Amino acid sequence: MRLTALNPAYNPNFDQHERVVLVEDDVTGLKAIIAVHNSTLGPGMGGCRIYNYKTQEDAITDVLRLSRGMTYKSALAGLPLGGGKSVIIADSNAPNKADMMRAFGDAIEKLSGIYITAEDIGSTDEDMIEIARSTSYVCGLPPQDTVLAAGLGGNPSPLTAYGVFQALRALTESIKGTTDIKDVHFAVQGLGAVGSALVRYLRDAGAKLTVTDMVATRMENMPFATASTLDDIYNTDADIFCPCAMGAILNTNTIPHLRVKAVGGAANNQLATKEDDAHLKERGIRYAPDYVVNAGGIIAVAYEYFVRNNLQVFPYVLNKESLMAHIEKIRATTAEILAHATNENLPTGMVADKMAESIFAK
Ligand code: NAD
Repeated sequence: MRLTALNPAYNPNFDQHERVVLVEDDVTGLKAIIAVHNSTLGPGMGGCRIYNYKTQEDAITDVLRLSRGMTYKSALAGLPLGGGKSVIIADSNAPNKADMMRAFGDAIEKLSGIYITAEDIGSTDEDMIEIARSTSYVCGLPPQDTVLAAGLGGNPSPLTAYGVFQALRALTESIKGTTDIKDVHFAVQGLGAVGSALVRYLRDAGAKLTVTDMVATRMENMPFATASTLDDIYNTDADIFCPCAMGAILNTNTIPHLRVKAVGGAANNQLATKEDDAHLKERGIRYAPDYVVNAGGIIAVAYEYFVRNNLQVFPYVLNKESLMAHIEKIRATTAEILAHATNENLPTGMVADKMAESIFAK
């Protein structure tokens, strides 16, 4: 097993990363990159993405972008955590995946706690179990006694949806003057783990829903909503567009067609470019920054990690109740960003970035 420090300062996504390490293991064939962007607030926590990147450079770009995003997400989520992420360059169905995961756990252990891993695209809770054989710097594990007793653990997606729902209440207030969602019209793209839980929260609050998903049967399971075709979701005449599928969907092709007053959803990296933040503002569309809106998942896995490791990081007991209260703060944070953006006449994404930087730069 070799850990080699990388210094990809030439990469536009480098942004002063504290540590970037290439991990290579000849025995299992593991090739991974671990990046810690900023650890001012605590160790860098972020998922492990397993993907067959075409080149090592593609993997470096992805991990740098993702770990930076985690710093901003955890800062505005009020967590004592920094930003980190890892990528494993492999097929997520590799036959020797379990061996690779144990080797990857060894590498994480060698970094002495500066990086804590979790699930991401291509990795599962079974992979986390393998990693946990070599290190304790891992979360997203099946709940054991203390975690279960606190009512924590399990799939974080419904909690991500709960956080998105809170952000949507703040967005509703900013465009309607009330947090009451009754009769507000949401156009939801993606009815997967998060989107399907979100539409149930919205339905229960009396919202009007138009939904779409690439998998038609997912729409059939939502008889209370009107189905849209894939591309027509961008033209839907609604109050709020909720992207809950893939990233980069706010771009020069889609933004001119949007017929909504606001955008807020779970998908990561919704803006195709930084300029699209300003493009939304120019069109008078209020954008709730994705990493603020979708922080429920990281808050949930962080609570699980703190309890599993008996870390008293907050002056109150960590349990389901305090977790839900923490996630509910996403509403106030979103409202604060929207208010600052209005007062300072700035795009919301820029305001959120500045707020996060003022927290983790301390
Ligand atoms: P998921 O894979 O369960 O669901 C995604 C859904 O989007 C699927 O039903 C898929 O068929 C659909 N989809 C894909 N392309 C589409 C398209 N072009 N048009 C319409 N539907 C399309 O994923 P998820 O866990 O629900 O996550 C959704 C998004 O939220 C992702 O971007 C993810 O990175 C982000 N996110 C998820 C969590 C979490 O806790 N799961 C946390 C933070 C962020």
